[in-house]
Formats: sequence, C-alpha cells, structure tokens
Amino acid sequence: MLNGKIDFRSDTITQPDDGMRAAMAQAVVGDDVLGDDPTVQGLERHTAELLGKESAVFVPSGTMANQLAIRVHTRPGDAMLLDANAHIYFYEAGAPAALAGVHSKLLDGQRGQFTAEQVEAAIPPRDVHFPQPSLVCLENTHNRGGGSVWPLEQIQSVAETARSHNLALHLDGARLWNASTASGISERDYSAPFDTVSVCFSKGLGAPVGSVLAGSAEAIDQARYFRKQQGGAMRQVGILAAAARYALENNRSRLAGDHENCQALAKGLAKLPGFAVDEACAETNMVFFDTGKRDAADLAKRLDELGVCLLSTGPHTLRAVTNLTVSSEEIGQALDAFEQLT
Ligand SMILES: *Cc1c(COP(=O)(O)O)cnc(C)c1O
Repeated sequence: MLNGKIDFRSDTITQPDDGMRAAMAQAVVGDDVLGDDPTVQGLERHTAELLGKESAVFVPSGTMANQLAIRVHTRPGDAMLLDANAHIYFYEAGAPAALAGVHSKLLDGQRGQFTAEQVEAAIPPRDVHFPQPSLVCLENTHNRGGGSVWPLEQIQSVAETARSHNLALHLDGARLWNASTASGISERDYSAPFDTVSVCFSKGLGAPVGSVLAGSAEAIDQARYFRKQQGGAMRQVGILAAAARYALENNRSRLAGDHENCQALAKGLAKLPGFAVDEACAETNMVFFDTGKRDAADLAKRLDELGVCLLSTGPHTLRAVTNLTVSSEEIGQALDAFEQLT
C-alpha cells in the first residue's frame, strides 16, 4: 500500500525504505568520473561477480545499459535480431536507430522467446543487398511476454546458432533477478552464454535509480566511453550505488513473495467472470489479462476509484505487476475490488 492505494502499475513505483535511505546517507562517495567513488566501484565489482563477468559499469537506466551494449556490439547499418515485443524495440524510444544506427530485424517469438531455428532463418545470405546481423538480443524475464522465464536450454541453443554465425549476444536482464528466483537457475548461469548483460536495481529490487551493464573488460571499457558520450557519467553517484547495493542485499530474497502474490492474484482473477487470464502465465511478478468486450482503460479508471491502480497495455488488456509495496493481504482486497466490477 502506497499513498492509500494498492499499486500494480509497475514494479518501478517503489520508494526507498528507511534502511535504504540510511545506506544512501552513509555512502562513502567521490567523483566517479575521476575514478574516486568506492561505493560505485564496489557495486560494479560485486555485480560483475554475480553475473560471472570480468567487468561492469553503473548507469542511470536499463535503457542506457541496453543501448551502450548495442553500440559496443554493432556498427551503423548492421542488423540486430530480437523479439518483436522486446523492450529494446518497443519501449526505448527508437534508440537503436537513433543512437547506434542499427536496423532491427524482428523475430516472432512466443511470450518473447524465440528459437534457434528462427535465428537461423533470419540470417540472410552474405550479399550486398542484405543488412548483415551482428547481434542477437534476448530478454529474461520478458516484460511484454508476461514476465516469462526463458528455459536455459533454449537460450543455449539460440546462443550456439548465434555463435556459429559470429553474432554477439546481449541479454536484457532488467528482471533477471526474477528469472533466477522463479527457476532456481543462478544469474551467473543465465548470463554465461552472453557477451553482455544488463540488470536493473530500480524494478522489483526497489532502488530509486540504477542499472549495470556487465561483460568483458574490453566491452565495458568501450561502454564507459559511450556512457560519457551520451551524458551518463555521473559524479558522487555512490549515493545511488549504495541504494542499489542495499536493494541487492535486502530485497532480492523478497522477490519470491511478489511471485506468490502474482500467482494468487492470477488465480483469483481466473475465477471472476469478465476477466480472462491464463494463470499458468503468471510465472513471475506480472499478470496480463483480457477484459473481454470492456474497454481496458475505462476499467482501469474505475478500479483506481476503488483504490487499485494498474495499467492498460492494449484496448482490452490490463497488466498487474506485484511489487514490494503490495502485501499478500492486499491481494485479497484487490480481488474484492475486481469482483465489484464483474
Ligand atoms: C524497465 C526495463 C528496461 C529499462 O528501463 P529503464 O526504465 O530505462 O530503466 C529494460 N528492459 C526491460 C525488460 C524492462 O522492463
């Protein structure tokens, strides 16, 4: 409960708790552009280790982490293969085209997941006509895929095919923490097939700001250069890195609770007439559901009046995201509100 409402709009709506604010206040900081901020450097090292990579760089947003990776792995005019519903394609303001000059070649995945065969089929012959791909991007969990978790074997077979064509691999792991919580597969094992991995601290982990891009020392050196170029190098930013570190240490283990709440919400919604939901699809902290003939935005407005906030993601689709501000008791209260609208 935040501001008196049960807020399912996103897992980005959380606010730093007292412990996190204290960690931020006490952070030892320095000018990170001059290499003086031990808190940032500690977070970068720690995250690189968690992801099994050589190096990492702290950035203001997941979007910047992804876009730096794209610039590292491509040249203008290259093609990049990714799912048609990828965050990088759908929600990053056209940055691959604007900042990297990259051509997006879209794959028609299932809940955001595509196969090695689809990658193979999307690679054109080497010929002057065809934009040549140099990068494949995956997203785990997949946001528009309903918070879906990639099976590790499927990642490995996609990676094998990509490698056989000399393509680089980037993982948009904004919610990799959720994938690991749900599957029991470590972030490190999920990251192993990739050259670079981005992770967010500002989603389910509850930090106010911050993401990291991890990869080889060479890739991250290059990413640091592009970060500076794009205005993302920050000074006494250990204040934010301290929040991210606190989030990792205190809130990662709480994600399982978000997942349980999401399942309970999905099960409850599935019993109500007028809301079509595949409860098996609520794998992590999101549930997407169909409102039938009723207008989703209108329903969201009426739910808001009943104290439940969520977003419509299509004319007849609503999305609810469980997060740190929602307790298990509030799932029951939210379902009562939904019931009033059936
Ligand atoms: C939120 C998100 C991002 C990055 O978002 P920012 O708002 O730029 O931090 C990237 N990928 C996915 C899948 C996301 O959900």
